[in-house]
Amino acid sequence: MTDYQAVLDRVIDHIEPLRFQGKVANYIPALAEQPLGQFSIAIQTTDGQSYYAGDMSARFTVQSVSKVMTLTMALQRYGDELWQRVGKEPSGTAFNSLTQLEFENGVPRNPFINAGAIVTCDALYSRLGAPIHTMLEHYRAQSGNDKVKINKRVAQSEFEHRYRNAAMAYLMKSFGNFNNEVEEVLWSYFNYCAIELDSLELAKTFSYLSNQGYCQQSKQQLLSAKQTKQLNSLLFTSGLYDAAGDFAYRVGMPGKSGVSGAIIAVLPNEFTVAVCSPGLDKVGNSVAGIAALEFLSEELGTAIF
Ligand code: GLU
Repeated sequence: MTDYQAVLDRVIDHIEPLRFQGKVANYIPALAEQPLGQFSIAIQTTDGQSYYAGDMSARFTVQSVSKVMTLTMALQRYGDELWQRVGKEPSGTAFNSLTQLEFENGVPRNPFINAGAIVTCDALYSRLGAPIHTMLEHYRAQSGNDKVKINKRVAQSEFEHRYRNAAMAYLMKSFGNFNNEVEEVLWSYFNYCAIELDSLELAKTFSYLSNQGYCQQSKQQLLSAKQTKQLNSLLFTSGLYDAAGDFAYRVGMPGKSGVSGAIIAVLPNEFTVAVCSPGLDKVGNSVAGIAALEFLSEELGTAIF
């Protein structure tokens, strides 16, 4: 049997020189307060075991990792029809780029860049009675912690600095690819980004991605096995902003990162791993987080290829 705990303990030694590298995201003022140097990592296996190392008292907002849950919930309600509103191709541009929308009739390249997530939120908004509460309940059930909260200060701060995201939403609206009030959908999007977890809760929340769509904590089949495979494939090609190729090369697993320094990665039928460390590289990915996943993948021989 694999000694995951021993490997996670070695991860901590491995990343020690990197913990203070990179910069904390500061384009959202409330996010800039995260202390550089924090690091935690957790694995949730498909047979229900949990392993973790590092500072587990650290809680962080999920940021872009929320895009995976938004997509999951939209796929539950729309199935393949959703792909009329958002594409499946890597973007090759920054996560908050506007230019591609202009040239492609307001259809974002994929659901993991901001425009793609916001249009997915718009689709979800049309089908959810209480969009923020319903989302929060999902995180609570899937993480196994019914006290999970939204960091309202972060949500508010993002809303106050929403200019680029609002520009994307209005541009999509001008092309007819947006159905609800922009400001309301943005408020739900920022609340989703501001849900606060620790690393183990994050690994548990997304454990269904390694478990054929089934979440052991909430005892729900969230996606079919086929949809789960499709979602993991898209994460592989587009989950790490415009560094998805580099992540695929170094780590070899589907993954999704967020500007809080959180990253999830999936080894289908084995485990979901979550890591958080707020120092980001130029693209917006956690420096120590990526190094940790690369090390883990090498130590366990876990790349999917
Ligand atoms: N809430 C952030 C934004 O909309 C998420 C960005 C990210 O994590 O990539 O800008």
